[in-house]
Amino acid sequence: MNEIFLMKLGEIVLKGQNKRQFENTLRQNVRRRMKPYGEFDVYIMQSTVYVEPMNEDCDVDGAWEACHYIFGVVSLCRCRACEKTMESIFQAAETYLGEELDCAKSFKVESKRSDKSFPLTSIGISQAIGGQLAEAHPHLRVDVHNPEYTVYVEVRDLAAYVHGPAEPGAGGLPTGVGGRAAVLLSGGIDSPVAAYMIAKRGVEIECVHFFSYPYTSEQAKEKVLELARLVTRYCGRMTVDIVGFTQIQEAIRDNCPEEYFTLIMRRFMMRISERIARDHGCKCLVTGENLGQVASQTMEAMGVTGAVVDLPIFTPLIGMDKEEIVRIARKIGTLETSILPYEDCCTVFTPKHPKTKPNRKEVEKVESVLDVEALIAQALENTEKVMVRYDEQETGN
Ligand code: ATP
Ligand code: MG
Repeated sequence: MNEIFLMKLGEIVLKGQNKRQFENTLRQNVRRRMKPYGEFDVYIMQSTVYVEPMNEDCDVDGAWEACHYIFGVVSLCRCRACEKTMESIFQAAETYLGEELDCAKSFKVESKRSDKSFPLTSIGISQAIGGQLAEAHPHLRVDVHNPEYTVYVEVRDLAAYVHGPAEPGAGGLPTGVGGRAAVLLSGGIDSPVAAYMIAKRGVEIECVHFFSYPYTSEQAKEKVLELARLVTRYCGRMTVDIVGFTQIQEAIRDNCPEEYFTLIMRRFMMRISERIARDHGCKCLVTGENLGQVASQTMEAMGVTGAVVDLPIFTPLIGMDKEEIVRIARKIGTLETSILPYEDCCTVFTPKHPKTKPNRKEVEKVESVLDVEALIAQALENTEKVMVRYDEQETGN
């Protein structure tokens, strides 16, 4: 028997009747994510996903890395499986973790026995294996309160497993159990984080990006596609709808008072996103808005912007500080791309004195000079669909 990954399920275990469906979805997700790395057996027992390489050709390191990006898993450990005898458990611990133990000054063994027919209790297992390991590594001190290294032994139904400390998983819920959302993705720091946060709740996502060539460059578009690609590392592939927004922005500039530019532009974004969302079967819109961050993110402005659509608008970052958002962007690997200095269409024709407390009637009045439906139809016609996916092999190392 060989190396195997054990991944502990998160909140999924609390979901009562839906538990089976959640587990099935997670198992399918893990199977799909393991495909590029060879043949793996994936099964779930006792609230644990087992991922077992089936032959020598498997890229076990690549697979292990990829497992850290699967939603629905709270923690994961890379183990050595062995027969359920004390001799095999000791041998497995010695060969698999011996080097780790050589580097530590103190250690302990922690055991769990879900197979109650195993003759020793968990404490008995820990004492016996701990004693043997201490003998094999005379420099090591046993410290049950504050050990430098912990050896874990789990005696389960099919086998016993030996491993070091578990690593944190991606958390959240398995992709696919929470429906589908359309994320308005800009090239900034916030919206990729919003996309990640909604995806983490088990939601499949599609992205919509508004692009104002020549005011925004081809590089700005590439940047957004790269951000989408980075998020797909967590949530699987997605489509990015790139909407030609130039005519709408020019129509607003030419026909509306400057202080309303951003508001009216954002109302168009919402309307167009809603249509695209419905085409993709998305049941909500998601933005990276954050209360008070800019003029268009006051309660009044967001109320006026959201009033043009029926789908709920979710704003996962609404109450967060910039610092927290940046921390997540760094963690998920989008920050570096987000801070590349290309223009976004929001920064084109920005009013000097934007309305921060707009009134809906007023906005409707200044907007009424535009042929809203015709502009939307034109923009939708001028939309390019790009399929984006993370190439799993890139992570293989
Ligand atoms: P971000 O960092 O996500 O760009 P921001 O703080 O710059 O956000 P705004 O530019 O006002 O804020 O945009 C608010 C939200 O509107 C964004 O988080 C995003 O969801 C959406 N948005 C803005 N510009 C675009 C765009 N060009 N295409 C798609 N969505 C956009
Ligand atoms: Mg922005």
